Amino acid sequence: MAKVVIIGCGGVGTVVAHKCAQHPEVFTEIVIASRTRSKCDAVAKSIGKPNVSTDTVDADHVDQIVALLERHKPELVINVALPYQDLTIMEACLQCGVNYLDTANYEPKDVAHFEYSWQWAYRERFEQAGLTAILGCGFDPGVSGVFTAYAAKHWFSEMETLDIVDCNAGDHGKAFATNFNPEINIREITQNGRYWQEGEWVVTKPLEFHKTLTYPNIGPRESYLLYHEELESLVQNFPTIKRARFWMTFGQEYLTHLRVIQNIGMARIDEVEYNGTKIVPLQFLKAVLPNPQDLGENYHGETSIGCRISGKGKEGQPLTYYIYNNCSHEAAYKETGMQAVSYTTGVPAMVGAMMFLTGKWNLKGVRNVEEFDPDPFLAALAENGLPWHEVVDGDLEVL
Ligand code: NDP
Repeated sequence: MAKVVIIGCGGVGTVVAHKCAQHPEVFTEIVIASRTRSKCDAVAKSIGKPNVSTDTVDADHVDQIVALLERHKPELVINVALPYQDLTIMEACLQCGVNYLDTANYEPKDVAHFEYSWQWAYRERFEQAGLTAILGCGFDPGVSGVFTAYAAKHWFSEMETLDIVDCNAGDHGKAFATNFNPEINIREITQNGRYWQEGEWVVTKPLEFHKTLTYPNIGPRESYLLYHEELESLVQNFPTIKRARFWMTFGQEYLTHLRVIQNIGMARIDEVEYNGTKIVPLQFLKAVLPNPQDLGENYHGETSIGCRISGKGKEGQPLTYYIYNNCSHEAAYKETGMQAVSYTTGVPAMVGAMMFLTGKWNLKGVRNVEEFDPDPFLAALAENGLPWHEVVDGDLEVL
């Protein structure tokens, strides 16, 4: 049906490529392109299908992406490189008349700050070109937004509180490692927290608020309030929400390492001079930390990510609702060679691409996932390795 170019071949890109290759009826041709071609070749080899090929691109440069898209003429680009490349890839897509999908919003390299304004600024241009850009189609952001849209469609007349809860109860046996790109991950969690309350953002110190939340099939885990990008679009698209927060679990060992990394200056993102060479400490740290793609083999346990929502049901009655997925690291590794954090991001990216290419998600312009119909997406998500569950009128415990 359509040709896709996947840009980026890390943990997430590997899963996206594997999952797209499972659906040749939708993804007739798949090109995996990244900065390091050998990684793309290795993934293409492990998939072993004739419709999967590879290419090279440095996606920091619009002209290189344009040349890539002109060579392959895809219908859609699935951007699973880093958030720094979002704008250059969107720009190239506009120049070449190609649709776009990503899993993380734009972040400038020199400031640890993310928000949608930079990508939303492309709305008019995508709309005028008759193209679609789907933003944030991983798990969170991604499925978290689709879960919320599903709750609004089927359960609530008015949603009042939303808590997105993200637990990784897996154990990879390393003293310290991040589950996705360490640079992006550490930048995200060392920032101030932020949540939405009565029409405005309340700022907290990094990891200042925490509480013990209980996750299905896992049990109690200490969970920390973070700012997460989907909160920005969800409170706009569902304006009845009075309070929206995001929680993520961290173990004590992880937090101790993180504190030390910060205290000794290794989380810095400005350049320092070392032996006549300029280096960014956090980028150097990435080079010595375990590669998230190599964690899969010995990873045990599960992730659990979901939305806990309260408000008024369709008949105006008080309602609580919890919708979530649990994903096993072992099962994800067995299928794709990657752990569950890459898996839970890559599967929704493939499903979002499938929704677009099969015409089920057909709005033009720059869109967040919750603007589309959640039903076909969630049906396909369950069929493709991420089944989800609902608890109606249960104890949300974070109320
Ligand atoms: P990795 O670091 O494992 O992989 C990133 C890939 O992008 C690598 O192949 C890298 O190439 C490539 N890349 C980096 N810079 C460029 C460039 N300038 N041009 C071309 N390719 C480039 O990251 P992950 O796979 O863990 O994460 C990928 C994306 O997914 C990130 O944006 C991350 O924020 C997002 N994510 C989203 C989640 C969600 O739920 N929404 C959860 C987890 C991640 P090279 O190997 O040469 O460095």
